[in-house]
Amino acid sequence: MQTPYGKECKYYYADYFRGKNTEECRLIQANPTSDPWKPALCQTCPVPDILLANACPNLALHGRVGKSMLGLLQKIEIEAACREYRVPVSKPKIGCGHCHEVLDRAKPD
Ligand code: SF4
Repeated sequence: MQTPYGKECKYYYADYFRGKNTEECRLIQANPTSDPWKPALCQTCPVPDILLANACPNLALHGRVGKSMLGLLQKIEIEAACREYRVPVSKPKIGCGHCHEVLDRAKPD
């Protein structure tokens, strides 16, 4: 579903049918320790670009609402991990790289 800022995000959910006015981020909703989400956070959220760059089904994202360095602005903070190799992923747009090693080995010389 498209966020209010026009980017596709599988975690965004909105329902305006029959007078409903529901907007949710299911990534933040899955983290009960996060500060509450609001739709404006989608504007600077890195998740849509991560999902566009890396379609790996083993990429697991964990999100929270955090504060900027000065503590004034809220933003979405992301941690990523690989479900297959059980390692943290520091560059989620690229992935952990282990699947690429397997694919490279399978290539004929
Ligand atoms: S905050 Fe980020 S992850 Fe959540 S719905 Fe918006 S774009 Fe998607």
